[in-house]
Amino acid sequence: MEIITAVRGFKDIIPPETDKWRHIEETAYRVFGAFGFREIRVPLLEKTELFCRGIGETTDIVEKEMYTFFDRGEESLTLRPEATASVIRAYLEHTIHAAETVTRLFTIGPMFRRERPQKGRYRQFHQIDAEILGPDDPRTDAELILMLIHFLDKLGLAKLNLEINSLGCAKCRPAFREAIVSFLGGRVEELCGDCQRRLGTNPLRVFDCKVDKCGEIISRAPRLMDFICQDCRDHFEKVQGCLSLFEVPYRLNAKMVRGLDYYTRTTFEVTTEFLGAQNAVVGGGRYDHLVRDLGGPDIPGIGFAIGFERLASLIPDRDQDVSRGPLLFIAALGEKAGERAFMLCNRLRMKGIHVEMDYAGRSLKSQMKRADRLKCAYALILGEREIEENSALLRNMHESAQEEVCLDDLEEIIKKLAR
Ligand code: AMP
Repeated sequence: MEIITAVRGFKDIIPPETDKWRHIEETAYRVFGAFGFREIRVPLLEKTELFCRGIGETTDIVEKEMYTFFDRGEESLTLRPEATASVIRAYLEHTIHAAETVTRLFTIGPMFRRERPQKGRYRQFHQIDAEILGPDDPRTDAELILMLIHFLDKLGLAKLNLEINSLGCAKCRPAFREAIVSFLGGRVEELCGDCQRRLGTNPLRVFDCKVDKCGEIISRAPRLMDFICQDCRDHFEKVQGCLSLFEVPYRLNAKMVRGLDYYTRTTFEVTTEFLGAQNAVVGGGRYDHLVRDLGGPDIPGIGFAIGFERLASLIPDRDQDVSRGPLLFIAALGEKAGERAFMLCNRLRMKGIHVEMDYAGRSLKSQMKRADRLKCAYALILGEREIEENSALLRNMHESAQEEVCLDDLEEIIKKLAR
């Protein structure tokens, strides 16, 4: 019979990769905690409307990539394609905004987008998502970016490229939109089919187009930076000033518009040359109207999402195996010794010590081979004679030295070794 495989674009994370994932998560908990972030866990399934309203009806995600279905014909539900909309829904539903003026939340988990799978692009992928709700002070933008760079640094990833841009606000964006429509309007014939449609629905999305010809046209288009109002300009300058205080290297990228409609003012991406076509590791930005658009009060926010798979693939293999081998392997010979070993093995495990043994009754040689393969620090050799003499041989696997120990003292000896 054929085995059943995972769904295309859905991927297992298996050991030792999971060790690396836990290392990344623990680093995030530590770093984010020091910056005042607390964890939130939100459902994977939401009402479809949340993403239509949040991300924007005419974005690629909402138009083409969502896993949406009618739950027994009653209600349209969607597997979340990103976390920000869900975090804000929870923030409003639990009136967290009424209890505090600044809220810093993070969440780690799977997202779902029906994109064409390829290296670094999956249909279920994971994100580390951080959001600050409340302040619109530029220092908040800088603090969030600083935390991100510090986090990447802690993971040994200092050489990534940070690009920032300002997308302006509701006041200054319409003039830019008009300029883009009139610029692209004169070149409709040269644009791809998708962009011709985008011109009528959401012209800023043309900036995201991967078609070469469209990219070439866009490179000559008016720049948003030339249209932003004085307030937005001042805000952006202050963000940059704060980043410079901490000597965070960055590059201005006037063409970065990000793939979601909710962004305003500061936006940023972290990219790397090491990932080929899927070079974006982190995307983020300010969203000053999203809370209001989702039915809440006028509360500004800013956040980022780190692509977990892409981040993990950048961490060198030598960091991969953060877990060590077992402390002890118990090699038992004969039935009586086997029983004693079983007791001892599980008693030590309940004390939090990683111990392994073999149930197959193999020869001493093959049991010691297994202890070696598992990278055990010590092996305990327990035979019929040893049981009769109430003793066992404890072997230091690294130094190849062994000593006889009394079985009554064994638990204490092993506990000492574990310290
Ligand atoms: P976005 O939510 O689109 O701004 O994406 C934020 C980050 O999530 C990106 O920079 C990627 O690292 C990651 N990401 C987005 N889509 C995928 C995908 N289909 N597969 C793997 N990672 C993804």
